[in-house]
Amino acid sequence: MRPTPLEPWIAAKTGGTLRRWQLDRLNETLDRARRSPFYRSRLPAGVDSLEDLAALPLTAAADLRAQGTGLVCVPQREIARIVTLPTSGSTGAPKRIYFSEADLERTVDFFHHGLTTLVRPGDQMLIGYPCGTPGGLGALIGTALERIPARSIPHGPVTSYQAAAELLSRTGCQTLVGFPVQLLALAKYCAAQRIPCRVRAVLLSADTVTQAVRSGLRALWGCEVFEHYGMTETGLGGAVDCAAHAGLHLRENDLLAEIVDGGGRPVSDGTEGEIVITTLTRTAMPLIRLRTGDQARILPGVCPCGSPLRRLSPPRRRESGPLSLPEWDEALLPLAGLADFRLTLAGSTVILEAEHPDVLPPLSAQEVEEAVRSLVPGGMELRIAILQTGDRPVLHPGCKRLIRREGGGRPCGGSI
Ligand SMILES: [Zn+2]
Repeated sequence: MRPTPLEPWIAAKTGGTLRRWQLDRLNETLDRARRSPFYRSRLPAGVDSLEDLAALPLTAAADLRAQGTGLVCVPQREIARIVTLPTSGSTGAPKRIYFSEADLERTVDFFHHGLTTLVRPGDQMLIGYPCGTPGGLGALIGTALERIPARSIPHGPVTSYQAAAELLSRTGCQTLVGFPVQLLALAKYCAAQRIPCRVRAVLLSADTVTQAVRSGLRALWGCEVFEHYGMTETGLGGAVDCAAHAGLHLRENDLLAEIVDGGGRPVSDGTEGEIVITTLTRTAMPLIRLRTGDQARILPGVCPCGSPLRRLSPPRRRESGPLSLPEWDEALLPLAGLADFRLTLAGSTVILEAEHPDVLPPLSAQEVEEAVRSLVPGGMELRIAILQTGDRPVLHPGCKRLIRREGGGRPCGGSI
């Protein structure tokens, strides 16, 4: 089995002494971060070992919102891109993440090598993220593909199943990258309409990937399914799985990942906790021990692909409340007539809106109810609405999926 291409890439960057190299970059990062008003008084000038990182204070999402440019470490003229992330509530300042040209180049470099896990020279890749913003996710993937060299098809989020499927078929496109549930719905459309596709591999990112999405795509397109984890705060790129599909190899030359318990204390490998990220090479806005709100484990041992690079178990968002979105995904996404769904908690009522494009096979409220009956908590009532839609994704047209609470929160919060 071919080892992850991140292995030789990171070995070459770090001279084969990863831990020593990480400690040197961490000390450089601490020194740099102390130039920012926010970190100046919070951080020591340096640490003696990587283990000392655990004694440093955590950075919360609320700190990013409250501080704004208080975390920026370079003059304004060196900022190449600012990403504004919507807040999850209806009030409050948005988060802004600042990148220099060098920060963006490191992400392209990671994408270039990470994508060669599934993209071969001469392949085409349909990009299912917004592609119009210079320095944005779609554009950075496009630049990375050129270096392979492979051809990018800058499509953006799906706005018409028919148009996207015809494009796939007409171009003979072998690979796609995009939102998990959108790509599964597109594969259902291709199967329902008998549109021939030659998809060999799919890369899923920007939202939680559940088993129903993986197995659905494998069955419908006969393709290999890869997963990437990253967020704007990690510089978009973060970790990607390999041919062994046994966890996501971390971008360890640019990021230090810790898994912590509820008190912010590191847990041992194999134990689930919150992912906390420290950037090692970011110049514009280094982040020290940032709480991501995502849950995962560090998988112990060497990957079956042969690489000792550390691996994350497939991450999922931390959830509070009586419902687990991944469980509902596993129950509902296998339905051939369902493209997507949305859960809203309204007091003791669970409102389930099931998106049924008329271009997919029929979908009845009865089969939806049977699929999720066991997931409705005792004492709660389930209300089902089948949304008869056309050729276009409606509930989550290009953003993360969340459980809503009636009277609070945005319906979705994209971070790309
Ligand atoms: Zn591997």
